[in-house]
Amino acid sequence: MSIKANLENIKSILPEHVTLVAVSKTKPISDLMEAYNAGQRIFGENKIQEMAEKYEAMPKDIEWHMIGHVQRNKVKYMAEFVNLIHGVDSFKLLKEINKQAKKHNRTIDCLLQIRIATEDSKFGMSFEDASEIIQSEKFSELKNVSVIGVMGMATFTDDKRQIENEFNRLKFAFDALKGLQTEYCKLEIISMGMSGDYQLAIDCGSTMVRVGSSIFGLRS
Ligand SMILES: *Cc1c(COP(=O)(O)O)cnc(C)c1O
Repeated sequence: MSIKANLENIKSILPEHVTLVAVSKTKPISDLMEAYNAGQRIFGENKIQEMAEKYEAMPKDIEWHMIGHVQRNKVKYMAEFVNLIHGVDSFKLLKEINKQAKKHNRTIDCLLQIRIATEDSKFGMSFEDASEIIQSEKFSELKNVSVIGVMGMATFTDDKRQIENEFNRLKFAFDALKGLQTEYCKLEIISMGMSGDYQLAIDCGSTMVRVGSSIFGLRS
């Protein structure tokens, strides 16, 4: 099926309150343009340099989301244009995003990546770390970042029950963090769910799904 048909299929089953991020990593501009011409305006990439190149080449009414792990020394390459950074996993990274956003006189929206996978996963912070950050004074001093939600990645497994448990863990963390939020932090987004599990994620409370291969086909 075409990219356009894939997109239309997915959009027809997504509830209205769920935002679709089209994950276009490794795919050529021509594929992204096909999605763009079918109306898609939110694209997700996991490498900063690749995202910056695509940003240069594509129309300027696109929202670019960084969904991958972010190295602090590369934040500067996306600070001018990135709309949402999903994988914020430390205060140090938030501080660097704040610094680079300030240089461009803007505020960058961020999600805190929470470690939900029971497998030993490298990225993401604990719920405790996240709650400590959003209640801290040093966080309230960062005027050029805005934490607007959480993101999580489930274990790579076929076990639906396990994935469901992990998604529920993120929803629980979101609700608990929302209870703590201050004027500096308005939590609205739960970014969870990919091609294989976005329906389950939505059932568990996702408000933003990151779908790649179901739109653009398998990556080589
Ligand atoms: C690649 C990627 C996706 C999309 O994966 P698909 O299975 O192709 O839908 C979603 N989230 C993150 C963080 C990714 O790196």
